[in-house]
Amino acid sequence: MRTPRIAIVGGGVGGLAAALALERRGAEVIVCEQSPALNEIGAGLNLSPNALVALRVLGVEDAIIALGSESDFLIIRSWKSGRVISRMRRGAFRQQFGAPNLTVHRADLLDVLRGALETVDFRLGARCIAVEECDRGGVVRLADGGEIEADIIVGADGIHSVVRKSLFGPDAPRFTGCICWRGMASANAVPRDIAIAEGAMWMGPHGHVVHYPVRRGELINIVAHFDSDSWTEESWTRECDMSELTTTYAGWHPDLLRLYPYSARWYKWALYDRDPVERWSKGRVTLLGDSAHPCCPILARARPWRSRTPACSQPRSPATPTISIKHCSPMSGYGCRVRGQRCWDRASEPAKIISPRVGRGSNAT
Ligand SMILES: Cc1cc2nc3c(=O)[nH]c(=O)nc-3n(C[C@H](O)[C@H](O)[C@H](O)COP(=O)(O)OP(=O)(O)OC[C@H]3O[C@@H](n4cnc5c(N)ncnc54)[C@H](O)[C@@H]3O)c2cc1C
Repeated sequence: MRTPRIAIVGGGVGGLAAALALERRGAEVIVCEQSPALNEIGAGLNLSPNALVALRVLGVEDAIIALGSESDFLIIRSWKSGRVISRMRRGAFRQQFGAPNLTVHRADLLDVLRGALETVDFRLGARCIAVEECDRGGVVRLADGGEIEADIIVGADGIHSVVRKSLFGPDAPRFTGCICWRGMASANAVPRDIAIAEGAMWMGPHGHVVHYPVRRGELINIVAHFDSDSWTEESWTRECDMSELTTTYAGWHPDLLRLYPYSARWYKWALYDRDPVERWSKGRVTLLGDSAHPCCPILARARPWRSRTPACSQPRSPATPTISIKHCSPMSGYGCRVRGQRCWDRASEPAKIISPRVGRGSNAT
């Protein structure tokens, strides 16, 4: 049997997890990533137990646990008084679900996934502009004029997916009417009397703010959400001034306002939503992660799906040492898609409670 050659477009969390799953099954894997280097960009991610189980299948669970942070409780506080509204025990997750809930730095997760890869052919600075199907599989067309032929192509190129556009045409994202700011503080620098050790979600009118430890508790990730139409750019890298937060959250609890200055940089982005596509695959080209089913970070559900999808696409028997092209295409997408849709619908419910503007079917009026 010929070794299948699989080209993955995008070296983010989903692309690298898929590369690892496929490499372990004996495939020849090429990852083309538009960035010239796999740099440390991004901030905190919440990994729920199902994500950890998927990472276990990929053989990297322990490495992630060693770099993450595990809080005993998920605490919800009142925006004004700081009163604890709810305290959910996360410490019991290990017994309940067989894996912990972890908060991690996105860069740490990417580092662990990349470090576990042995034979993958990385093409950096390789921006895909289109994919096309051909008799023997598909072709990835690159901005520099190059092309990569493969038996199977996986579009793991995120929320602005070019592969998705090539397969199903352009779609129009919906602005949710919600803006996010994110920052990262060094835990050592933050005074002890600011209650940060456990992490918390502060709920208030038209917004909520989440902070939690990452990188073994050395850093505090802060994400602030607010209903507003004043900013509509969807970007992970747009810097902004901290004064935007102090103005937006004026009147919120002093601990929160005192925490903001400990982040040297602040980024903001407008939250957009896209409907899940009906199909994830066409011929020998398939989608994975945000390209297939983007999910608002407000739901804290994106990462489990990203790391679960490749794990779902593995053959059922763990003893099977190799994969065949038949196994990969159409990447067992159906079961994941149905499950994904169900999760999406359920996961949207809390978001509607948190912010009536976010969630499926809502519009930004
Ligand atoms: C720079 C960045 C920072 C982020 N920071 C956070 C954060 O702080 N908190 C949070 O909750 N979530 C963050 N996210 C989103 C989160 O990582 C994703 O929602 C989730 O991991 C989905 O994974 P994915 O692999 O499907 O897509 P992504 O993680 O978005 O990865 C997509 C990858 O594809 C590459 N790519 C895109 N288009 C092309 C192309 N045409 N050709 C080649 N390569 C391409 C991108 O450079 C990227 O590396 C960030 C995403 C990015 C890209």
